[in-house]
Amino acid sequence: MHENKIPFGERDGTLFRAHEVENGLRCGCVCPGCQQPLNAANNGERVVPHFRHAKSNDCFDGFREGVRRAAVALLAQQKQLMLPALTETVRVATQEGRLLEQKVELQPVITTADTVERFVDLGNLRGHAVLHQSDRQLIIRIKLSARMEHERYRQLEGLKHSSMEIDLHHLTLEQINDPASFEHAVLYDPTTRHWIRSIRGERLLTITEQRLRLLASELNAQWHLEQTEREAAEKARQAALDKEKAELQLALEAHRARQIQMADEQPATEQDNTVQGRAELIAETMLTALQAWNGKAVECNACHLLSPPEYSFCLYCDAQTSKVNPVTLSPDIPSTIHKRMRCSAKPTMSMKAAPRLLLRPDLAVSASAPTTPTSQEDAPQ
Ligand SMILES: [Zn+2]
Ligand SMILES: [Zn+2]
Repeated sequence: MHENKIPFGERDGTLFRAHEVENGLRCGCVCPGCQQPLNAANNGERVVPHFRHAKSNDCFDGFREGVRRAAVALLAQQKQLMLPALTETVRVATQEGRLLEQKVELQPVITTADTVERFVDLGNLRGHAVLHQSDRQLIIRIKLSARMEHERYRQLEGLKHSSMEIDLHHLTLEQINDPASFEHAVLYDPTTRHWIRSIRGERLLTITEQRLRLLASELNAQWHLEQTEREAAEKARQAALDKEKAELQLALEAHRARQIQMADEQPATEQDNTVQGRAELIAETMLTALQAWNGKAVECNACHLLSPPEYSFCLYCDAQTSKVNPVTLSPDIPSTIHKRMRCSAKPTMSMKAAPRLLLRPDLAVSASAPTTPTSQEDAPQ
């Protein structure tokens, strides 16, 4: 489309727009691409002024060459342009897995060059313009096709100077014909330009990255310190647990030895290992707890007999599942114990969890003390 309508004609080395010259062949212009004569179409209100090749040929460079040269001429004449914006985010991960982020931004600003060189040979490619400012250079590429130029970008990124692209491929004939619109698109419009390589941007990114790395190393050191403390605390906790476990094991072993010794004097009878016998023993230990241990005791969750309150283990059985829990006896036990035991499931559970007791409770205490009040009605509640 662009290739057919050519916006600029060349005469004596100068570019003209179609409305600036006479109509038709009288314009005296040639194509900036192929140097063949052009026909100016600038008559009629509905015609957007443009040139066409006078004789059709296979030249497709008329549009590109003309617009590019006109843009470079503007740069050379004005010696200033808007630099592209730059927005990037620097990310650095900490050892803890946190992502530190900082945005780096260059605002679009107008820069002024000391001199502007046109169409500079850079080895494998041309800089369409090179702006010089003291010892710095800015290479400018004018893009006039929709094609991506990855290879050119790669080559430009390898050079030691900053480079940018001004993309004019989407400009309409009307925009190109209007000098103000064209100048805005070439020199100032932030949307037509982007950095290929920004030395200043790279420096800013490096500084930002260094700052984030420093922050990350501080956070890492702090994290390591905390990690070491956490590990030490965990180790101490584990050691305390192990110690407690070992002490408990020792205490249990001592307890078992004592049980065996006591079993000589208080061996469990056959009757003790029946549901009926077990019911009687449970009742007896409850009465003993009330009378001899001040109403306090620990109850074995296996055999359900009560041991003295200061005991950590069941005095009577060695069931694997045995644990003791503190209990407080109701003062009405003596008057209600028979009723309680009649409907209690404890004797059966006791036989199931601890079929054989190591020793039987010493019943001397409860036997020697009065176990029943004189009258049930007077029993304390
Ligand atoms: Zn041509
Ligand atoms: Zn027990």
